[in-house]
Amino acid sequence: MEKRAQKTIKKVFSIEGIGLHTGQKSKLTFKPSPANSGIIFIRADIPGAEPIKPEIDNLLDITKFPRRTSIGNEHFKIHTIEHLLSALYSMEIDNVFIEIEGDECPGLDGSSRPFVELLKKAGIKNLSSERDIFAVKEPIYVSDNSAHIVALPSDELKISYILDYPNTFLKSQYASYTMNPEIYEKEIAPARTFCLREEVEALKSLGLGKGSNYKNTLVIDNDKGVIENEFRFKDEPVRHKISDLIGDLALFGNYISAHIIGIKSGHSINTKLVRKLKELYNRERVSGIVTPSPSFDAYGVLYTEEISKIIPHRYPFLFVDRIVELTENKAIGIKDVTINEWFFQGHFPGRPVMPGVIVVEAMAQVGGVLMLSKEENRGKMAYFMSIDNVKFRKAVRPGCQLILQVELVKMKSRVARIQGKAFVDGKIVAEAMFMSTIIDS
Ligand code: ZN
Repeated sequence: MEKRAQKTIKKVFSIEGIGLHTGQKSKLTFKPSPANSGIIFIRADIPGAEPIKPEIDNLLDITKFPRRTSIGNEHFKIHTIEHLLSALYSMEIDNVFIEIEGDECPGLDGSSRPFVELLKKAGIKNLSSERDIFAVKEPIYVSDNSAHIVALPSDELKISYILDYPNTFLKSQYASYTMNPEIYEKEIAPARTFCLREEVEALKSLGLGKGSNYKNTLVIDNDKGVIENEFRFKDEPVRHKISDLIGDLALFGNYISAHIIGIKSGHSINTKLVRKLKELYNRERVSGIVTPSPSFDAYGVLYTEEISKIIPHRYPFLFVDRIVELTENKAIGIKDVTINEWFFQGHFPGRPVMPGVIVVEAMAQVGGVLMLSKEENRGKMAYFMSIDNVKFRKAVRPGCQLILQVELVKMKSRVARIQGKAFVDGKIVAEAMFMSTIIDS
C-alpha cells in the first residue's frame, strides 16, 4: 500500500439523530485534530469523562451488547459506532476529535453515506506526518462453526464477502472490492442495515431496534422482499456487510494492507481477527522492525505503551511513565517514584533512596524518546557514548514525582549532545550532559 500523508477534517461540523437501538436522540460534533492523535471520542454530556479511542482494547463485550459495535468503560458507553468508523476508515480520516452527547451514534438512514457526505462537505486536509500501515505477511484466519474470516497478504486493502441466508429472499450474495474513498463512496457507503422480518420480534424483545423503522432498516420479507422500501442495489445486504466489516477493521487503529475475506462473518469473529492482527502488529513493532509514529492522547501525553514503541526499554528497566511534552529539540518525561520500585528493596531498606544512576538512566531514556521519535530516526537505536558533568543535588525518595527534562544542545552528523535535568517539586535533583549516537538497529 502506498505511503501517504495522514488526514483530518478542515472544519467543525455536527450531526444529530436517533440511535437505531436505543431510540434516543444523540449529537456528534467533529473537530479537526493533529497528526498522530488518532480518532478520539469524548462523551461531552458526561462531565469529566475521559477521552476514548475506538480501538479493540476498548471494545465492549458483543454478547452483552449484540448486533452493534460499542466501546466504553465502567463510567460510560458509546454504542453503534460501526457505520461511522467504516466511513472514517474508508475516507482515510486518520485524526478527528468527536464529541458525543448521548449513548449511541445517530443511525441516520441506516448506512454510512450521511457520514461520508458530511466529511466531504467539511473538507479533508493532509497533515505533515505519514500514516502507519500494517501489511499482513501471512494468511491469518478465524473460524467458528459456520462463519469464517481470512486475511491474506495484499498490496492494497481488498474486501470480499459471502452472505448466505438459504431459504430466504436474500439467498447467497457475493461481492468483492478493492477499497479506496471513491469506490467506498459509490459502492459501499449507501448500503443500509437490514434484518429478516422474522427477526424483528426477537430483536424488539431484547430491547434492540427501538430507533429502527422501515426507512432506516431494510426489513426483508421472505415472499415480498423488502418491506415499504426499495433496495439501493440488488445486492445491498452484502454491501452493507462489507461496510460493517470495515467498521470492525477500523478497531485495529491503523491502516491494514490485506485481502480480507469474510464468509458469513459478523462482529464476533471480525473482532477476533482484529485482535490477532493487533498481536502481530505489536510483536512486529516491539521487535523494532518498524517503529510507528508516537500517538499522543487528547491531552498530548504519551504513556508507556507508546513510549515502548519508540525506545526498546521495558519493565523493570523503563523509568519513564509518560512524556508530556515532545518537540523538535525538547522532551519532558515524568516518573512517579513509588515505594514499590524494585531498587528500594536494597537501596536501602529502612531508608529508601532512588539510586542516582537510575535518575541519570531515566533522563537518558527521555533523551532516547527525543531522538528516536524523529521521523528520520524511527526504528533505530540510540547509544550513549558519554555522560559528563553529572551532579546529584538532592535525594529522590518514594512519593516523589520526577520531572525529566532533556534538551538537544547540538546535533552533528549522527552525534547528539543532550542536556538533561531532573526536578522534584520544582527543585533540581540531578543534571547531566549526554553524548549519544544514532545507529541503525
Ligand atoms: Zn451495520
